Amino acid sequence: MLAISLLTPPYATLSYATPAWLDVSAWKCGQRVIVPLGKGGMLRAGIVVSVDDDSSVKEGVVLKECLWPAEREPLLRPEYLGMVKQLALRHMVTEGEVLGGLLPAGLRTSKIRLRILDGGKPRTVTMRDLAGMSAEERSRVGALWAGNAVEILDSTFDAEEQELCSLLVDPPWSVRPSAKRQIEVLEYLHDKGMLSRTRLLQELGSGISAALNTLAERGLVRIGPREGGTCESCEDESNECSFGFGEGFTLLPEQQAAFDDFSALLHDETPKSALLYGITGSGKTVVYLELAAEALAKGLSVMLLAPEVALACKLDSAVRKRFPSQECFFYNGYQSPTEREKTFRLLAKRTTPCVIVGTRSALFLPSSRLGLIVLDEEHDTSFKQDEGLVYQAKEVAHYRVQQSNGLLLLGSATPDVKTFHAVQQQAVSMGVMKERAGEGKLPEVSLLNIKNMKRSDGILAAECKKQIRETVERGEQVVILLNRRGYAPLMYCLDCGHVARCPHCEVGLTYHKGRERLICHYCGYSVSYPVVCSKCKGLHYLPMGEGTEKLEENLIEILPPDTKILRLDRDSTRRPGKMQRILDAFANQEAQVLVGTQMLSKGHHFPNVTLAVVADGDLGLNLPDYRAAERTFQLLVQASGRAGRGEKAGRVLIQTRDPGHYCWQFVGSADYDGFYAEEIERRRKRKYPPFVKLALIRASYPLDWNKGVEWVETLTEVARALGKEHDVRVLGHTPSPLPVLRGRKRFQWTLKSDDWISIRTLYYAMRNAVPRGSKLRLSLDIDPVNML
Ligand code: ADP
Ligand code: ZN
Repeated sequence: MLAISLLTPPYATLSYATPAWLDVSAWKCGQRVIVPLGKGGMLRAGIVVSVDDDSSVKEGVVLKECLWPAEREPLLRPEYLGMVKQLALRHMVTEGEVLGGLLPAGLRTSKIRLRILDGGKPRTVTMRDLAGMSAEERSRVGALWAGNAVEILDSTFDAEEQELCSLLVDPPWSVRPSAKRQIEVLEYLHDKGMLSRTRLLQELGSGISAALNTLAERGLVRIGPREGGTCESCEDESNECSFGFGEGFTLLPEQQAAFDDFSALLHDETPKSALLYGITGSGKTVVYLELAAEALAKGLSVMLLAPEVALACKLDSAVRKRFPSQECFFYNGYQSPTEREKTFRLLAKRTTPCVIVGTRSALFLPSSRLGLIVLDEEHDTSFKQDEGLVYQAKEVAHYRVQQSNGLLLLGSATPDVKTFHAVQQQAVSMGVMKERAGEGKLPEVSLLNIKNMKRSDGILAAECKKQIRETVERGEQVVILLNRRGYAPLMYCLDCGHVARCPHCEVGLTYHKGRERLICHYCGYSVSYPVVCSKCKGLHYLPMGEGTEKLEENLIEILPPDTKILRLDRDSTRRPGKMQRILDAFANQEAQVLVGTQMLSKGHHFPNVTLAVVADGDLGLNLPDYRAAERTFQLLVQASGRAGRGEKAGRVLIQTRDPGHYCWQFVGSADYDGFYAEEIERRRKRKYPPFVKLALIRASYPLDWNKGVEWVETLTEVARALGKEHDVRVLGHTPSPLPVLRGRKRFQWTLKSDDWISIRTLYYAMRNAVPRGSKLRLSLDIDPVNML
């Protein structure tokens, strides 16, 4: 009997019998297999999570039989299945949901073909064919399988790789407004990036085929295989990022001290966690690389993870430079499914040590003997995935080093308050670097009180504009942070004052001038602009507020005529490779000003930047999140860290309407220790993490369902009653900060407790109170990073 976790809905773990047509030894734990499901005999892929003899089958129960293995040797090792089980328990989901969320798409499909080589002409059979055969015929195939006369053909992805569609030009596109299908294709590619033709036709309908061909003929879209010689993620044509360390450098004293400490931990045969707390520009990367060298020399593998692709790319080229003859794997969520599948399979088989570089999803690669995992910029919230499969990369990494007796190294200039608290509690060791490597000095930070500035005067104060202009005139560079993309976040109807809102989320639509569209930043809904006011049918709108697009436009007016401005945000970086090109162009001084969202605060090195401006310092402070101050502190110190990295001194100007906030006194001197001391006391007093365990339970239901409120109230009663019993504080229900999203009404409960078990018990009871098939959806988010 086999317990098999399904990799697609319903994601259940079901028992199956081993069939007569294959020897029992063909089935192994950790192996992918194809099984029938339900009355119609649909085929599903699953993973064998346990193998038991048939005596454990209850009398009278007739199990369905497995159909066929999808591979001869198991894809996943026992430790890997152990990790999956842990994650499933922790987040209260099934093992199938975990596996379905972390395996590359090609490994979840049941569309597997076998090639039968029985001496005659080779023939190919699909799983569907096999299911339709008589038991006798299947036994014949089984005998051939046992004699190695059956091959497994890889998935169909390779063909798709030959026809990848990608945009060649940015909006606005020169397409007639009446060419609706062409616009649809362009918008879709703009949102999703590179897609295979097959997927595009699946998702938009085969009706767009002609439009796609026209776009390709007109040179707006490219269809073809990936271009050779480029780094897949940053599409850096030279594949040679400027960052890296060749031979002939020595560690600075602080780097050496940190390295020595960590190296001792690495050689210790017990699992360890450590924090490298080094200011921006202190040269944390070299410490990671030297430690990686130690681990490799011990015959252990290394994982280096960054919160974002562009940073991972940089790390990747630094690794290749440091270890030119070492096999290195690069993995991230932006790669094609085929590429990811290839890496996954290679690592599943591999037993020799290697280096893996990537973003959070790389943590799930099935590599063996992990001696070192590094999480750079560990405070970054992108290490938590909160859509689909929920997990915190730090926890998964912790679990993995526990299994392999390895070292988990977290690096940051502004550590997560929780991590720093763990250091204070002596659960995590720490290395400290307080000096910048090389020339750079930390910049001087000043606050600019804009409380009395009229909103209609634009977002930059006169003093701020003056400093930007002077810096540009001196031939130096400026970065401007504005954490709001698009042109204007609100559009008022000039005739009736009505605000244009998303029909599915009830939030204001953001005007994107470049695309001539109004877009919902929460669900992606968009309409082309100009649009008719839904209230008075008026056609004229007044854009209110300022996003990166408008800021860029306004800057042109105040700067010398030949000034070049670049913009870095999610819109300007959609096309593959665009992000890297913008960063490179700015680093090469092809532009004097870089305007962008939080993207530009992360880890980039621009030696000629002497002024960093934070246009709206308060933006994050007012979010309904107990970590609002921590986030703001981290973002602003990181952004400030972009200035003064070269020979010339840097300055930072932060505009705020709330100059009294406690956060500012510490941002000014990049005083993390001071900030931490203040913040941790506030958390202790108000009972927030790390002093309690905090979780969010979210409920949502369709807008038109009138039983929803009643159910939410019932659940509150369930939670309250159990909360008393288990000593869990239940706050709510309250409407979520985004009360409507994607056509569903949303409520939430905040749970605080001393342990996770009580919280899980409550969630379990609430979930059980909801009948099967109900329109109400419930989910648990442990230690949420996103409170919206
Ligand atoms: P961090 O990640 O700590 O902000 P980086 O690792 O990006 O800092 O390093 C900052 C700069 O310092 C890089 O340009 C790097 O080349 C330089 N650097 C780091 N360590 C050394 C060293 N030991 N000798 C010379 N330059 C160094
Ligand atoms: Zn929406």
